[in-house]
Amino acid sequence: MEVFSIVPRGYCKGVVRAIEIAKKASHLDDDVYILGMIVHNQYIVNALEDLGVHTIDIKGKTRLELLDEIDHGTIIITAHGASDEVFIKAKEKGLQIIDASCLDVIKTHDLIKEKIENGFEILYIGKSGHPEAEGVLSIQKNKIHLISSKKDIDQLDPHQHYVMTNQTTMSLYDVFDLCEYAKEKLQHVIIEKETCTATKIRQEAIRNMSNDIDIVFIVGDPHSNNTKKLASIARQNKEVYMIESIDDLNISVLKGKKKVAVSAGASTPTYLTNQVIDFLKQFDENCIETYHKPKIDKTKIL
Ligand code: SF4
Repeated sequence: MEVFSIVPRGYCKGVVRAIEIAKKASHLDDDVYILGMIVHNQYIVNALEDLGVHTIDIKGKTRLELLDEIDHGTIIITAHGASDEVFIKAKEKGLQIIDASCLDVIKTHDLIKEKIENGFEILYIGKSGHPEAEGVLSIQKNKIHLISSKKDIDQLDPHQHYVMTNQTTMSLYDVFDLCEYAKEKLQHVIIEKETCTATKIRQEAIRNMSNDIDIVFIVGDPHSNNTKKLASIARQNKEVYMIESIDDLNISVLKGKKKVAVSAGASTPTYLTNQVIDFLKQFDENCIETYHKPKIDKTKIL
């Protein structure tokens, strides 16, 4: 098949940094726990577990609540960041803290704190329940409104002074639409778009892919917001499949297809994406020997 490996794709600087921090922490002479998934990829979580770095992640529990599960050792704050409350509670419990928050997430926290100090309320475009949004909302709950649709904007006081910003991994295009709508509906709104550069250039590359691509694979974990956004942008005019790894690639969807594009979320191990690309490159619908999928070597994930 003809394969277009979309560039840039895959690991961003925040993910690389967080994984390196966690790997280094595995050498500590202490029990090490990650508060939530270090990045949203189960293969990485499992590989770190094999190194002795334990992930504490319970569906529906916030970072603050997850701390109740840990009573000793060292905790790692994930790339998504955490609120000040989490740092304070961890210190009170006597835990050592290693902060792997992405610097772009910290930049958004700092912006929001400064704007609240200057008297604004914050309109934060984000995903309910996502750890990055959770960290931001805890900065000052009564001053930050989570915006996930135009309906949320309709319910605001149109005379209030707002700053509108967003989760770093949101779709550039959805953020644009919501900001334009807010400018129409609200009298005083300042826009501070915070989609990070890594997300932006990956989304633009998807948006600009060639028209004659028959089918697109986005490799990434179903929990990963930036992976889902890449898929949703591609879906606007292409047949798209989100897969975690080569194991999920359904060969029947390749029938009759000539040109395939591949991209990957910012938290997807490069090894998993390359395995998909290499398989597709050698695939020939008319040659049954090329249907054989390689096994995943879990030692190559980190
Ligand atoms: S996607 Fe952006 S904000 Fe998230 S870890 Fe990567 S660089 Fe940081």
